[in-house]
This record gives sequence, structure tokens and C-alpha cells, in this order.
Amino acid sequence: MHKLVISNLHARIEQKEILKGVNLTIQSGEIHAIMGPNGSGKSTLANTLAGHPSYEVTEGTVHLDRKNILEMSPDERAHSGLFLAFQYPSEVSGVRVHNFLKTAYEQRFGQLGKGSKFASVLEFRKHVEELALQLGVKKELLSRGLNEGFSGGEKKRLEILQMALLVPSYAILDETDSGLDIDAIKTVAEGVKQIITMHNTGIIVITHYQRILKYLEPDVVHIMREGKIVQDGGTELVQVLEEKGYSGM
Ligand code: ADP
Ligand code: MG
Repeated sequence: MHKLVISNLHARIEQKEILKGVNLTIQSGEIHAIMGPNGSGKSTLANTLAGHPSYEVTEGTVHLDRKNILEMSPDERAHSGLFLAFQYPSEVSGVRVHNFLKTAYEQRFGQLGKGSKFASVLEFRKHVEELALQLGVKKELLSRGLNEGFSGGEKKRLEILQMALLVPSYAILDETDSGLDIDAIKTVAEGVKQIITMHNTGIIVITHYQRILKYLEPDVVHIMREGKIVQDGGTELVQVLEEKGYSGM
């Protein structure tokens, strides 16, 4: 069992305070949705948790079990089991997906080979291809350059594959569902659920839409506004939002 505890988190970017005291506790295996108007600080929260260098934490703590992850480098955070799927996955030209995944895996679990779960690159690739098959990622994508010419859906599916490979204790999905068609949303949601079932991962899903939440059935829905979580509830909140919008709450 893991516990992620965010306490009174304040963060700023370019001298402007964006997060103004976020409190959030997530247990293993739970799904928490964060919704909120544009500019309320959702991505800032995700990036701050991941350790993005542009965001300066001015107050508060984030504990993963006993460790304050704010004292760790982004790599150490990933190594501790925190995973962030980016809202706009970047294209990294020249890096093949297979190699990218290998690097990410080794960063989390150490070098392939002796003492690793995979004795060789070949075995590792086989595992990646099995996961790809399960998650609806076309095998030929694995030999292409990372995200080069990928469709929106392909990028997102690849993120889920990356997540399945890294077995995170906690994952933050920042608008992973944006721009996806219904089939892709279903695949992503099923992939996420599969990962939770297999590894008891705790999930923070940032979204604007009820569609993905219908499949994911979050345990808690949080509404964020002006850098704070202003309301917690169950999935009924999503329905209220859908009908009244953020201004009607
Ligand atoms: P959300 O994801 O909820 O839409 P963001 O966290 O992206 O909101 O943005 C919150 C606020 O922080 C916005 O006012 C945005 O303009 C500001 N902000 C985010 N990133 C930057 C940046 N790199 N430089 C300056 N301001 C930023
Ligand atoms: Mg955002």
C-alpha cells in the first residue's frame, strides 16, 4: 500500500503564484479526477509533482510514503514510481520508440541484463510487444521515431503503454483523453484500469470530459479553481458540472 499526500502545496512560475495551497491524499488503487476551468492550475499541479524545473515550490510538502518527493530530482521521482503523462507529448526526433522505452525502463528499474527482469534487449522487446498488443498499439509504431507523425490517439495509447511498462505507484494523466475519439478513449480507459488491477497504481486523471470518467469511475472527483481544490465529491459532481458548468457551481 502506498500513500501520496499533497499538503498545502504552493507553487509559482515566473514570480506568479499559481498553486495556492493544494491538499490531496491518494491511496494505492484509487482513481481521483481533477476537473476545473482553464487556467485553474491543473497542469501546473501535474508539472510540479513531476519536478518540472520551471515551477518553483514556495510552500508545502508532497509525500510518497515517507519521502518528500519535492526534495528529489525528476529522475529520482520517476525512479520512486511517479509517472506523468504529458498533455502534449513532444516529438523527439531520431529516438526510436523502442529505445525510448528501454531508456525509460532502465531509469526506473536499472540496466537490462543480469539481475534485471529481462536478460536481454530481445526479451525486453518481446515484453513491450506483448503490452502493445494488449493496449492496441500497432507494432510498427515501436520502430518509428518517438511521436513522429503519430496521430493523437497513437500518442495517447503509447503513453499508456509507457505507463504499463513502468509499473508506477502513482500516475498523473493530464488531459490524456483530449482530442481522442470514443474508441481511443475506451482503449485508454481500459488500459488504465488494467494497470490498476495488475499493480494497484493510484491515478490522478485531469480531464474536462465525463466520457473518460464514465469508463474509469473515479473514487473521488475534485474541482480545482484558482490554484486550490475547492470541492470534493463523487461522480455526481461530474453530472452537475455537465449541466451547470463551472460558473454554476
Ligand atoms: P490548467 O491546466 O488548469 O488549464 P495551467 O496550470 O496550465 O492551468 O495554468 C495555470 C496558470 O498558470 C495560467 O494562468 C497560465 O497562464 C499560467 N502558466 C502556466 N504555465 C505558464 C508558463 N510557462 N509561464 C507563465 N505562466 C504560465
Ligand atoms: Mg492543463
